[in-house]
Amino acid sequence: MHVRANSIDDEIRLTVDAAVELANISAGEPLPDHEVLSELERLRAVLVEFEFLRARGATDAELGAFADRLVSVGRLVRSLPDIDLSSAVDALNAQLEAAAIAPSLSAHDGFALHIHWTGPSTPFAHQVAVDLLMALAQAVCDHGTDRFGRCAADDCNRVFHDTTKNHSRRFCTDPRCASRTHTAAHRARQNPE
Ligand SMILES: [Zn+2]
Ligand SMILES: [Zn+2]
Repeated sequence: MHVRANSIDDEIRLTVDAAVELANISAGEPLPDHEVLSELERLRAVLVEFEFLRARGATDAELGAFADRLVSVGRLVRSLPDIDLSSAVDALNAQLEAAAIAPSLSAHDGFALHIHWTGPSTPFAHQVAVDLLMALAQAVCDHGTDRFGRCAADDCNRVFHDTTKNHSRRFCTDPRCASRTHTAAHRARQNPE
């Protein structure tokens, strides 16, 4: 993860945003601009968008290995709106225990000094999964599970990460969800039964 973030908090927030988007894709919930892509290309698009540098050149086999790895990480992310803090801690610890983490400091490609959680020879799927897990772990330490929610639109099961100041987020990042819900509410007011 190489976000030109202002602070470690920004970087954690953006990596958690990436984890949520990837978890939604792995549950078969693409965004409108990703609908034409295969699942692997959707994963690549989101990883590139969030500056996982190795995603650009990742082979189909590497992306496939990541998709496999994302099954358990995605299930954990999608459960966060529904479980309490101690269950979230247990679930995260179970995955962290199985993750071989070897941290080091690095400044490369014009990025400020930052932590790599895995070594340079670590397979792509494992490197990304560990980045996601470490950001989720930090986010849960800072804010518990309160920032994770499920979209309020009918027929949408996508999860979201709420970073608004007043915890007012109701919809996922698919812009159609907020607009169709507001249209339906407007029609209901116009045409009372
Ligand atoms: Zn780096
Ligand atoms: Zn939605």
